[in-house]
Amino acid sequence: MNVAFKTLGCKLNYAETSTLENVFVSKGHSVVEFNKKSDVVVINTCTVTERADKECRQLIRKALNKSPNAFIIVTGCYAQLSPEEIVSIDGVDLVLGSKEKLNLFDFETKFEKKGTPQIHVSPLSELSGFGPAFSGNVDGRTRAFLKIQDGCDFNCSFCTIPLARGESRSQNINDTITQANHLVENGYKEIVLTGVNVGDYGKKNGANLIELLKNLELISDLRRIRISSIEPNLLNDELLEYWISSEKICKHFHLPLQSGSDDILRKMKRRYSSTDYKNLISKIRKSSTNAGIGVDVICGFPGDDEKCFTETYNFLNNLEVSYLHVFTYSEREKTPSINYDFRIEPKLRFLFSEKLRTLGAKKKLEFYKSNIDKLQNVLFESSLDGNKIEGYTDNYIRVRTNYLPELENLISKVIIKSAKSEYCNCDVI
Ligand code: SF4
Repeated sequence: MNVAFKTLGCKLNYAETSTLENVFVSKGHSVVEFNKKSDVVVINTCTVTERADKECRQLIRKALNKSPNAFIIVTGCYAQLSPEEIVSIDGVDLVLGSKEKLNLFDFETKFEKKGTPQIHVSPLSELSGFGPAFSGNVDGRTRAFLKIQDGCDFNCSFCTIPLARGESRSQNINDTITQANHLVENGYKEIVLTGVNVGDYGKKNGANLIELLKNLELISDLRRIRISSIEPNLLNDELLEYWISSEKICKHFHLPLQSGSDDILRKMKRRYSSTDYKNLISKIRKSSTNAGIGVDVICGFPGDDEKCFTETYNFLNNLEVSYLHVFTYSEREKTPSINYDFRIEPKLRFLFSEKLRTLGAKKKLEFYKSNIDKLQNVLFESSLDGNKIEGYTDNYIRVRTNYLPELENLISKVIIKSAKSEYCNCDVI
C-alpha cells in the first residue's frame, strides 16, 4: 500500500510520525508524499492553537479530495482531546489517541473502509507509559529527532499539552543510548533531543539530563547533539556550564518566554520572572557570545493589552536573542485561561503578533549579519536542486553554498559571506 503522512505541530510529533513511517515501511508498505494519491493517510495532529484544529480539518478534506477511497487515520493531540469532532468529518476511518498512536497496527491491519469510524482514545489517567522505543528522521540521513521525554507536569494556564499527552515521563538512559547508536549506525551525524519538557528529563526515573548527555557524547560517530528546547527555569547553572563546555552539544538554546510582562507570566503560571529570563540570557551570552538563542512568545493572552504588549516588545527588543517564534493566543477548551477575564480582541492579537514577527525577522537578520566573515561548522544535508546545498551551523544558522556531492551529510568548515532573511551564503574552506 501507499501511505501518506502529514504532521502538524511540534518536533515531538514529527519524531513520532517518522516512527510510524518506519513501522509501515517495515511491514512492506511505501511512504508517498501527502499530495500524492494513496491508500492510507495518517494525519498526526496538534491542538495548541485554534488554527491547528482548523488546519487539521482542512487536511482531512484535502486528503479525501486527492484519494477519496483512502483509509484516513487521525491521531495526535487533537485526536486525544476531540475525537468526536474528528469523526464528525466525513471519510475519517480511525481516530487514535496519544497512547494508541504508536501501536497503530494493534487497532487496524487491513485498512479497508467500513463507513463507520472507530475511536480508540485512552483517558488522560492512562497516559503514563512511554510507548515503544523509537526515533525519527528530519531530513533524510543527517539530523534525527530522538524522543527522550513526553508529557508535562507544569500546567501552564493556556496549555492543552498536559491534557493531551499526560504526565511527564522519560525514556531511560539505556534505551535512549541504544536508539542513538542505531541512528548513528544508519548514518545520522546529529541527534536532536526532543520532548514536551526536555529539561524535566529523568525526574521520575532517577536519571538526569547531564548524565544522559555524558553518555550520548561517548558515541564517537555522533558528531552533534542539539537540545530542541528547554524551559528557562530548568536550565540551571550546572547544566548551562556543561552545555557550554561540551564539544558536541550545539550552542543553540531554544527558551520559551511567552511574555515579557511579569503580570502575564504570573497569570500564565510560568515559573520564572522576566528578570530571571533576562539574567539567563546574559549568562549564556557571557560564556557563549555567538550562541543561537530562540524565543517562543504568545500574543493576546487574557489581559495582555497594549501596555503589557509594549512591555513584551521592549523586553525582547533589548534582549540579545537570535529569533522569535510568535504564537497568537486562542482559547482552548479545558484550560484554566479560557475562563480568564479581559479577553483581547482577535484583531489586536493578530496585530501584536505581526509586530513581534517583524521584530523577530529583524533580530534574525541582525544575528545572521553578525556572523558574516566568521568560521562555522555546518552539517550539510542534501542538494536543493542539484545546484545548491544547505545545512545548519552549530548555532542554528541556515547556510547555503554551491552543491558538491561530497558535501552531503558532511560537517564542513565554512566562512559566512552574506546574510539574507532566511539563510546565509557561505564558502566551504
Ligand atoms: S511547560 Fe507549560 S507550556 Fe510547556 S508543555 Fe508544559 S504546560 Fe505546556
